[in-house]
Amino acid sequence: MGREEELRTAFGKWEEQGVSRREFLRTCAIAAAAVGLPAWTVGEIAAAAVAGKRPPVIWLHFQECTGCSETLLRASHPAVSNLILDLVSLDYHETLFAAAGKQAEEALQASVRKNAGKFVCVMEGSIPRAEVGAYCRVGGRTAVEIAKDIGGKAGAVIAIGSCASWGGIPSADPNPTGAEGVPRILEGKTVVCLPGCPPNPYNLLGTVLQYATYGTLPALDSLGRPAFAYARTIHEDCPRRPHFDAGRFVERFGDEGHRHGYCLYKTGCKGPRTHAPCSLQQFNEVVGAWPVGIGHPCFGCTEQSLAFRMPLHTTVEIDRPTPPANYPPIHADHGGVSTAAVGVAGLTVGALIGAGAMAAKKLGSSKGEGKGENDKEAK
Ligand code: SF4
Repeated sequence: MGREEELRTAFGKWEEQGVSRREFLRTCAIAAAAVGLPAWTVGEIAAAAVAGKRPPVIWLHFQECTGCSETLLRASHPAVSNLILDLVSLDYHETLFAAAGKQAEEALQASVRKNAGKFVCVMEGSIPRAEVGAYCRVGGRTAVEIAKDIGGKAGAVIAIGSCASWGGIPSADPNPTGAEGVPRILEGKTVVCLPGCPPNPYNLLGTVLQYATYGTLPALDSLGRPAFAYARTIHEDCPRRPHFDAGRFVERFGDEGHRHGYCLYKTGCKGPRTHAPCSLQQFNEVVGAWPVGIGHPCFGCTEQSLAFRMPLHTTVEIDRPTPPANYPPIHADHGGVSTAAVGVAGLTVGALIGAGAMAAKKLGSSKGEGKGENDKEAK
């Protein structure tokens, strides 16, 4: 089958499911931008996906609520969810798998044997270290054994969600199971961490597509997070930031400031200390679909020092002084957050792609050397 025919067949398959070419390319573009890949990579990523160049993904569950899987499945409409699942070639997923018991275990082992060293292992949930074996056994094996065995044979390991990244809610005091994140279990192995409760699925999609297309992983920070997505705090790019700077705060839920979309800092917003892309990259491809967007303070779900440790409505220390609350109130005609939010969110994809374009020079200059200097190979 020639390349043109391959493309027609692939697009035809997605079009039958209700996904247009435009949507397909848009999904690839958002995924590429989510991990900081420049705009010129979108065509290569799309071509690789169409050509079926997708590593098998084996998705394991440990101690969690399945919310990270849900975030992948809850795109704006079912066809995009199918597209996402198709793009990542999800070969094994305990929640979605039709098989169960011995049959599922055999399928897992068969996939691992067939794709050893090539598959992407996504781990969802924390791993219990207390009284190893007392908690979370699957198929007779402990979570630690499974993580070490399957993770050790993977080409790349991704810890999705805060539970897998650093322990999440199961690690909250008193942490009866001794819950820990995957990096603590697989010491010495590169683990891409995508904290969040849940994380944005496009960070996962971008990481997998980059690995499939270039054999590399995104540049990571000291906590194993894709630096592009987690380098900034929510507060830095929040659409309510002008209200914070002007000293206009929600004092109580439902008050006038809340109705005008003022800053949620005084109701406990953890945005000033939370590293995550939520204010730029919202959920389900729906403008405003994130906590602050719907009028709730950020919970700090990506941060080990905040989430499930600091009470929801306790204010965080910030390293810049809080502007006084006695600034004159914004005029109602100009104060609604919805207009600003729509404007900012409408620019989200453009901003992300624009930032990706800024990274293009660096990636582009090293492309001829085989791997971008920003990229980190899986061990
Ligand atoms: S709502 Fe939260 S993140 Fe947004 S400006 Fe206020 S404190 Fe910062």
